[in-house]
Amino acid sequence: MEEKKDNFRYLLEQFADIKIMQYKVPGFEDLSLKQKKLIYYLSQAALCGRDIIFDQNYKYNLVIRRTLEAIYKHFSGDRNSQEFKELETYLKRIWFSNGIHHHYSSDKIVPGFSENWFRKVVEEVDDQYLPLDNDQTGQELINLLVSVFFDENMAPQRVDQDQNKDMVKESANNFYEGVTQHEVEEFYEKRAKSVDPYLSHGLNSKLLRENGAVVEKVYKLGGMYSPAIDKIVEWLEKAVQVAESKKQKQSLDKLIRYYKTGSLKTWDEYNIEWVSDTHSNVDVVNGFIEVYGDPLGRKATWESLVNFRDEEATHRAMVISRNAQWFENNSPIDDRFKKDKVKGVSAKVINVAQLGGECYPATPIGINLPNADWIRREYGSKSVTLDNIMHAYHQASLNSGFLEEFAWSEEEMERAKKHGMLASSLHTDLHECLGHGSGQLAPGVNVEALKNYHSPLEEARADLFALYYLMDDKLIDLGVMPYKEVAKAEYDGYIRNGLMTQLTRVEPGKSLEQAHMRNRQLIAQWCYEKGASDRVIEKITHHGKTYFKVNSYDKLRELFAELLREVQRIKSEGDYEAGKNLVETYGIHVDKEIHKEALERYHKLKLAPFGGFVNPYYKPVYENDGTVTDIKLIYPESYTHQMLYYSENFSFLPDIN
Ligand code: ZN
Repeated sequence: MEEKKDNFRYLLEQFADIKIMQYKVPGFEDLSLKQKKLIYYLSQAALCGRDIIFDQNYKYNLVIRRTLEAIYKHFSGDRNSQEFKELETYLKRIWFSNGIHHHYSSDKIVPGFSENWFRKVVEEVDDQYLPLDNDQTGQELINLLVSVFFDENMAPQRVDQDQNKDMVKESANNFYEGVTQHEVEEFYEKRAKSVDPYLSHGLNSKLLRENGAVVEKVYKLGGMYSPAIDKIVEWLEKAVQVAESKKQKQSLDKLIRYYKTGSLKTWDEYNIEWVSDTHSNVDVVNGFIEVYGDPLGRKATWESLVNFRDEEATHRAMVISRNAQWFENNSPIDDRFKKDKVKGVSAKVINVAQLGGECYPATPIGINLPNADWIRREYGSKSVTLDNIMHAYHQASLNSGFLEEFAWSEEEMERAKKHGMLASSLHTDLHECLGHGSGQLAPGVNVEALKNYHSPLEEARADLFALYYLMDDKLIDLGVMPYKEVAKAEYDGYIRNGLMTQLTRVEPGKSLEQAHMRNRQLIAQWCYEKGASDRVIEKITHHGKTYFKVNSYDKLRELFAELLREVQRIKSEGDYEAGKNLVETYGIHVDKEIHKEALERYHKLKLAPFGGFVNPYYKPVYENDGTVTDIKLIYPESYTHQMLYYSENFSFLPDIN
């Protein structure tokens, strides 16, 4: 992959710990009018659920967002004052996190303006612009927000995974209200016994106490979030009219039916339709999907992602997935845990056309769905790599000074610049197309056996699978990797990141909370320790700076194999204690000295550790008689403009739901 000259403005702006980028949508102009329309309708549906994710993340997020937007728009004082600038940054951060908790650490973000200033400016805003429900006065609104903002005991964390506490009570998310962790667990145990145990019970609902009893409020038309779901359905119904195939039409019909009924059985049926539709060029993820926001891993946040196939890159992933059985057979895991037949690993590389809900503005770089284990087992899963997103990240990061600061040698740096993009694409392909789908459980083992340690261990398993095979001759034989320098670039980067550079995204004194960060440190730290006697990974101190250097790529690969074998065994046997031990020993606690140093060196570079994207706009072109003759793709100019535009045009929920 050669770097071409590219004058597109990938990086738009930076604030706090965030950089805002935009992605290109290559190939959109070449699509048929019908496909463009399909993307347009699906992209509108993707925007209609924006309020849902705000509300799911915290009960008062919509009130907060609306109040701050009202101030932002109607403030008549000095917009260059320090306090107003602080409000602007705070609002930008809230837009980014879809709420007041940091999207990654889940800690509450505290504003930089003062309580007194805030009280004063809200009072100056005309009541008609404020989110005042029912008989609420402006003063009541101010008091509520002041305590949310400044009382450190109020909603400090969106997701609290501290095993010694009641995680349901301690987490600020809006999935539960007035119920204890024990009550939640009891409620769903009972549900699983009395109803089909395969269903993802609790996935699309809030559990709360009403008149003393524990009740479930389901997200559906006529249920919770109905006004937003109504709009989503409206656009999906238009999309059905221009579906690319019968299969896709059936799948969208099921999705609509699911939104209308809230039935989890219909949700599963939809997923089965969706996963078997591998031929359509345009595709969409739309629904309550990921459960990272719930400490019990049960309730899903709303997201949407509209995309279409990238033909060239798809070929690369296809070659890998076509050989899935070879990879499974030659994997270093115990034969008992290998699948005789690896099924339905569909590989596709896509370009994103629209991000929504949980995927916006911070987006994943790969998707592997559906999540229900039994559907994956029986029908397979769809794996996609988001090529234009990865490309934008890469373009925005070149020449940032980051590699120069943290890579040990010139050689390492050059390797990363030259091969980094292909290396990470291959890693993602292997992780998503093969890693998650590989291996099987021993008979009788429950998929939930690893409980709260499931996510980091599952990510570790997929990463280890990718790392192990990156250094394999097979990739060269298959023609997807030119030489092992590419794999070396990935090994260097993975170790550097897992042992040091990812800590630049963690606040001082904090430990690792996020599943992917836990898994990366787990792998890197474990290999560093186990390979210490052979100096597989060397810690070098030079001019007071620490570097991690890989001395033997082959030995590091052997360590990846050994750990993959163990993590697979843990999953297959449901060995909770061993899994817990691995994550607790290697994946959570941070080396305080290294952390401090990484942050100091990082801050000098003045870079933002987190990134996200604004969407392009799709604008229909109408004939005189009202028919649509084309859909124009327009790149956005400003993050703030887009956020305000979405709030004005795609906000359908009441302040409190
Ligand atoms: Zn994964």
